[in-house]
Amino acid sequence: MSAPYRRGYSHTKSKGHESTVTCSYCGKSVPRWKTFTTYKGFRITDPVLRKQIDPRFTSTFSRKFYACPSCARYRGIVQAGRSRKTRRGTE
Ligand SMILES: [Zn+2]
Repeated sequence: MSAPYRRGYSHTKSKGHESTVTCSYCGKSVPRWKTFTTYKGFRITDPVLRKQIDPRFTSTFSRKFYACPSCARYRGIVQAGRSRKTRRGTE
């Protein structure tokens, strides 16, 4: 008689309310909570150059990238099964 079941979660039905971002790699628009954020840019590794350049200035080189789950996995930003905390440099 009654409805079979109710969904426990409810996504917003109205468009535009849920913020979406464009994947920087494939150009797909993905819900923001699904994406992975990475910063890419020029990294100055030369210690001499680093001292000469203001660290604030070097940070402007980096750009924010949004990656959808498939791209993130493909690019090695995240590893499958380890989506919660991506730890780098431990291995
Ligand atoms: Zn993508």
